[in-house]
Amino acid sequence: MIVLLWLIGGYFIYNLSSRSAAMLKENYQTVESAKFLIQSLDKIKNQQIQYFFSSEGQFNQTVYSQNLSIFNKHLKAVENNITEEGEQEIISDLKSVYNNYLSAFERIQNTGNNNSAQFFKELIPDYTLTHNLIVKLWDTNMNAISHKNGLLKNTANKAFIMISIAGTVCFLIAAYFFLFFPRNITRPLTELTRSIKEIANRNYSQRLNFHSRDEIGEVAAAFNTMAAKLDEYEHSNLSELLFEKKRIDTIINNMKDGIIGLNEKDEIIFSNTNACEILNVVESEILGKSAPEIASENQVLKVLLNDIPNKTKEGYKEFKPLRILSDKKIKYYSREILNVKITKTGEKAPIRVGVVIVLKNITHFLEQDEAKTNFMATISHELKTPISSMRLNLKLLDDKRIGELNKEQKEIVGALKSESNKMLTITSELLDLARLETGNITLNIQKVDIKDLFNYIKETSANQAQEKSINIHFQTELNLPTVLADSEKTAFTLSNLINNAIRYSDEKSEIIVSASLQNGEVVFMVQDFGKGIENRYLEKIFEKYFQVPGSEKQGTGLGLAISKEFITKQNGRIWAESEIGKGSRFFFTLPVYS
Ligand code: ADP
Repeated sequence: MIVLLWLIGGYFIYNLSSRSAAMLKENYQTVESAKFLIQSLDKIKNQQIQYFFSSEGQFNQTVYSQNLSIFNKHLKAVENNITEEGEQEIISDLKSVYNNYLSAFERIQNTGNNNSAQFFKELIPDYTLTHNLIVKLWDTNMNAISHKNGLLKNTANKAFIMISIAGTVCFLIAAYFFLFFPRNITRPLTELTRSIKEIANRNYSQRLNFHSRDEIGEVAAAFNTMAAKLDEYEHSNLSELLFEKKRIDTIINNMKDGIIGLNEKDEIIFSNTNACEILNVVESEILGKSAPEIASENQVLKVLLNDIPNKTKEGYKEFKPLRILSDKKIKYYSREILNVKITKTGEKAPIRVGVVIVLKNITHFLEQDEAKTNFMATISHELKTPISSMRLNLKLLDDKRIGELNKEQKEIVGALKSESNKMLTITSELLDLARLETGNITLNIQKVDIKDLFNYIKETSANQAQEKSINIHFQTELNLPTVLADSEKTAFTLSNLINNAIRYSDEKSEIIVSASLQNGEVVFMVQDFGKGIENRYLEKIFEKYFQVPGSEKQGTGLGLAISKEFITKQNGRIWAESEIGKGSRFFFTLPVYS
């Protein structure tokens, strides 16, 4: 549009300027020359007047000749610039009249006559004609100028009209683009924005209907393809998810364990067939309902939910079996509580989304365990009598009153005695364990003086310590209070720890046994400087039958387990600290008698 306006304006300006230049050249020059012609003609006439009417000396031939040449010069100029109609005739008339005028004066001059009547008679008519012809020439050109000026005016008007029309048209086009073009661009963009928002809100049926072949059309086509794929993806995913959910539901339902899932609001989200049997409910009746509310009427669920918030730490496993009456039979279940955490898309910290309670039926194992315990109790009880009789007979054999034994026989009897002692310890431990497991252990809690306890232990452990030339240092604080304990069980624990210390120490080493008052309870410690125990086994050694891999398999692996039971039953704690190569320290606490 700008170029168009520039071309139109330029064309007219060029047109006007070239026309006015032509006019200047064609007519204005002639008008100028006409002016000089009249001026020089008048001066020629004036000289002639001088010649006729004044004294002779006042006629100036030089001025006269000068004006003649000026006249001739301009006459030539107008002759060379003939542009108008009739100009040619005027000029040739002018030339002949002018020549007549001049030759008349020359003729008079040559005769030497300067009669003024001659001036009026012979010169003035030619002069007037010449003058008139110059005026005519001037008029012709002035008329031409006026005519051409009119034409220029017309052209200027035309230019004004053309430029105005072109300007208006350009303005209208620009206004159209200004008003409607942006909307043409923004409308698809607005539509696209709206559709993208719909897609973000999971409305994948959203489509764009721009069929233009430009970039917007291409964007719309790409958008529609994306929406269609998302739609397809969503639906295929949903059906797959539903299928997978069904598969998992079926697996959970078919599992032998009872499984109950709660969401973060403690509502039941699933309960498999076994869990429903245990709870004695129908799944559809409890799904989506608040577990604590149902537990207020369902005793079994109440037991299952018991203390859950405190037991949802990572990998919590409960060892104490739950005793549940189901189908009129007592069944035992182990309860495992799994904390379910997920990390949402785009977030970093996992959030708790519920818990899963897994109930394992352990009735069968407990029945078997009970049978084993009973068997162990019977066997160890039955073995105790023959072992005691063996020990008695060995004692008799060793008695000099029965007969002197030679050196070898004495050694054999000594070995038999030590083995029978071991057998007695093992059977006692087994019996103790059986009693513990069946709950048939009774504690005789009373006031126990630690010094008495230490004196008793000193005697019993002296023999073993001597065998390995080990020194046992008993250290007690002054004014140590008495403790509230079962002296027999505590003595068992202490001598078990000392026996272990002797067993796992090198010959000629030291053992420290101490008791001290700490934070209102008495802490017992047995320290050896033997091989030590790896950190990872420090808790496991208190489990039944556990022995540190690679250690001498002399014992049963029961001593520490029994000790732990004895101490915890007396409201104390037992633990071990150790450093490989430097020895171990075993601690247990007992409450102070008050
Ligand atoms: P055991 O009859 O095998 O000694 P315990 O229950 O008394 O059974 O001990 C369990 C295991 O702990 C032992 O087999 C041994 O590996 C380890 N243990 C116990 N006391 C010590 C100790 N003082 N030094 C090194 N290892 C020890």
